[in-house]
Amino acid sequence: MGATSHGVPAIRLEGITKQFGGASDAAAVAGIDLEVRDGEFFSLLGPSGSGKTTTLRMIAGFERPTSGRIFLHGEDVTDLPPFDRDVNTVFQDYALFPHMSVAENVAYGLEVRHVPSSERAVRVKDALRMVRLEGYDSRRPAQLSGGQRQRVALARALVNRPRVLLLDEPLGALDLKLREEMQIELKAIQSEVGITFIYVTHDQQEALTMSDRLAVFNRGRIEQIGAPAEVYEHPLTAFVAGFVGSSNLIAAEAAQALLGKAGRFAIRPEKIRLGEPTDKVGADEHSALGKIKTVVYLGAETRFIIALDMGGDLMVTQQNLKESSMEALSAQGRAVRLTWKRGHVLTLADDPQVAPA
Ligand code: ATP
Repeated sequence: MGATSHGVPAIRLEGITKQFGGASDAAAVAGIDLEVRDGEFFSLLGPSGSGKTTTLRMIAGFERPTSGRIFLHGEDVTDLPPFDRDVNTVFQDYALFPHMSVAENVAYGLEVRHVPSSERAVRVKDALRMVRLEGYDSRRPAQLSGGQRQRVALARALVNRPRVLLLDEPLGALDLKLREEMQIELKAIQSEVGITFIYVTHDQQEALTMSDRLAVFNRGRIEQIGAPAEVYEHPLTAFVAGFVGSSNLIAAEAAQALLGKAGRFAIRPEKIRLGEPTDKVGADEHSALGKIKTVVYLGAETRFIIALDMGGDLMVTQQNLKESSMEALSAQGRAVRLTWKRGHVLTLADDPQVAPA
């Protein structure tokens, strides 16, 4: 690629919408603007049905937008078929050919494009090395574990050397432990190959772990785009505050009573300190009295639901530095004082797009 492509985003979506049914049906994608930088690991994060997969399929060319334009490295590809776009997709169900060996599966795309067999062999070997599957060339998919099959699917996409790789919940079928291992590996592979990854997931932990930046989807719209820490520490809307990590949402009378101001706010449960009712409250802190209503022991931490004396509940999480499960669970019913730093109160936008739950 020439110097002209420098600084041009890998993907640009301009006013993209997708309406599947008639005009009266809610749009699957309801107006999206997005820029993904070249070489980024970018996640589309959101709950089921929020429009992530439809957006990915429009970038791939499997679905046509109802309106809006799609640019890949500056070129308008909106009207191009999938095979004329410099992208490859890795699906959750792997879609491997069961009767072919690992090497044949990986080589397939090159064969279709008539890449000479000597070059094919080198590129297949290289792709299998990237996904750490050297020596597995002659195995059949049925002789592999779920994680290994996922790697073959990845190698099959990487071997084509696309500039953009689209991944739709690629780890969805794996158990938690393997999933966490693959998250770290995928990220390492992406850094190694330097290809732009667009990664669809509904798992906020996964998106926070792997992404350079992410877009949070809700009902066909993007509510926030940013780096993981930025989105977690400064959620712009109530939806983002609740979907990325957990949050106590505080609005209306509760905001007046607890925080002394009107508006919509959020406090992360891990920012609230659980203490004795007699504890002193600092000048830079807010405080409320209550009783422990529910205790959920989670191993590394404990989650408490506190019924406030003034009405309403707050969730608090504490790391289990010393407490055993017995001690944590026996806290139920205890009177407590909650305190949190004023600086940890997050101010949310009164976003009209965020429909009340
Ligand atoms: P998931 O994580 O469950 O895949 P998602 O965020 O990827 O969810 P989409 O698959 O993009 O969401 O779906 C968005 C909306 O569009 C949903 O309401 C879905 O039912 C609808 N939809 C998706 N594909 C079609 C289709 N081919 N025909 C009609 N409606 C569709």
